[in-house]
Amino acid sequence: MSVMNKNLLLFFAVLMISGCAQHVEMAPPELMDDDLETFISRASGRDKILFQSDDQSAVLSYSLFSSGELPKFDPYSWILKGSNNRKNWVVVDNRSDQVFCSRFQEKCFVVQKPGDYKYYLLEIKAQENDTFTVADFTMFTENVLEEWNRFNYPEVAFEVLDPQTKGAGLYEQLVQDADAYIKYHALKVAEILFHSAKDSMNKVEQIRYQIKDYEGISAKSGQPPVVSIVYSTRHIENSALESMFKLDYETRGVLFHELVHAYQFEPKGIGTYSTNREFWACIEGLADAVRTEAGFFNVEDSRHPGGHWLDGYRTTGFFLQWLTTKDPDAIRKFHLTVRDLPVWSFDGAMKQVFGPDSGIETLWSEYQEYLTLEQAKHKTIL
Ligand SMILES: [Zn+2]
Repeated sequence: MSVMNKNLLLFFAVLMISGCAQHVEMAPPELMDDDLETFISRASGRDKILFQSDDQSAVLSYSLFSSGELPKFDPYSWILKGSNNRKNWVVVDNRSDQVFCSRFQEKCFVVQKPGDYKYYLLEIKAQENDTFTVADFTMFTENVLEEWNRFNYPEVAFEVLDPQTKGAGLYEQLVQDADAYIKYHALKVAEILFHSAKDSMNKVEQIRYQIKDYEGISAKSGQPPVVSIVYSTRHIENSALESMFKLDYETRGVLFHELVHAYQFEPKGIGTYSTNREFWACIEGLADAVRTEAGFFNVEDSRHPGGHWLDGYRTTGFFLQWLTTKDPDAIRKFHLTVRDLPVWSFDGAMKQVFGPDSGIETLWSEYQEYLTLEQAKHKTIL
């Protein structure tokens, strides 16, 4: 979601709309809070949502998130209108036959007929249902899809190996269209690893995704063009114990991690994943850095001082993601060093991105100081 936070249109809440249409409501907070567990539930085809900007702005793209409720309540068709006086409304975007591939799922659109408006009105219908639900709605003053409209989506071969398990049933409740769900996450991973769809990247032509009953979480095997990912029904069952939202959070997080392995470059000149620790820490650290950047780790609870940058996974991943506080493009630049350095190392990578005086020792100790301070602050608050 971090990629999407650029140039989002902010709205002022006005207290009440009096006089005009009876079922018009000002931007409800549940819709604008970036929290997919809160959602609105309103009358399909009747209740309208009004947004007011501080000035006249052209909305160029927008995103809509399905709630965790049943798919039958999802938005199926909608109209977005613009106005400067709240009397004359112009249709800026009109969609029908829309299906969300899972619960808590984003759909993003480029506005068909943008114009400068102070007010926007959103009218939503569910498919053959009196009620619709929406978790979040965000409008952007830029086309957030522009750099990515030529992304080569992989083909997805989805298979449930153990359909009789409880986990397989839970997955089906969460994900209605695994093909679209996996493609969406492939794009999101690429958005964090690369600048645009034009960048050189691994040609991932097919992703084989299997839901399987085994003791574990998830694993990737194979190399592009064909990559296989397996996801454990037992892990699904454990994650769903808390809530459907927790299952979603975990499923997407794990998928981010495994899909990074499909798209990431591999270090050169230092052996292999199984023979060289630096190679391994680079691969597993970057996968968790992307998962963190995407918002699928609870950083505040799980990031602590200590460890080593060669510990891989979260320890390395949180560090790499923290580097984005020094340079928003740090993850993409770090990834480019993996492609470009003839003999890769964390030290060489850091110096390439941050300059010759910023080796891994320097940055790691700065990161540790930051973590120690953060922990002290946290204790004070408690
Ligand atoms: Zn991994």
